[in-house]
Amino acid sequence: MTPPTSTGPSARRDDFSADYFDALARGHLMVRRCQACAHLCPPAARSCPVCHHGSLDWVASTGRGRVVSAVVDRNRGDEPRTLAFVEMEEGPWIAARLIDADGLVPAGTPVTVVIQHPADGGSGESVPAFVVGEAATTGTS
Ligand SMILES: [Zn+2]
Repeated sequence: MTPPTSTGPSARRDDFSADYFDALARGHLMVRRCQACAHLCPPAARSCPVCHHGSLDWVASTGRGRVVSAVVDRNRGDEPRTLAFVEMEEGPWIAARLIDADGLVPAGTPVTVVIQHPADGGSGESVPAFVVGEAATTGTS
C-alpha cells in the first residue's frame, strides 16, 4: 500500500502539458485523442494505450462522468477532502478532487467538472475538480 501524501495532485506546467493548462485556464477540460485510431486517452497519456501510436491530439471533454472510486483524505488538517477517479462520458479516467462532497461518494454517481482557478494574484495552474450531479452553471459553448 502507498501511504496517502499530503501534497495532493501536482499541477506543474511543462511543454507537454502547456496546452492542457491553457485550456483549463479558459474553462475547458481536454483529453487526448490518438491520431491513428481515435482512441481517447487521459490528459497525461504520452502514447495511445491501444495502438501505441505516439501522436495525440487534444479534444474537449464533455465535462460529464461517473465516479469509479472515491476516498476521503483526512490528512490535510481540519478539512477532509474527497478524491475520486472519474470515468469521463467519453472514456478516459481522471483523478481529481470532489468538492462539496459530504463523505464517501458511491461508485456510479454522476459528476460534472468544475475548473478551479488560482486565487487572484496567486501562482499555480487551474485544475479540474468535480461536483456531484449536473452542474447547471457550467456552460460549455
Ligand atoms: Zn491509437
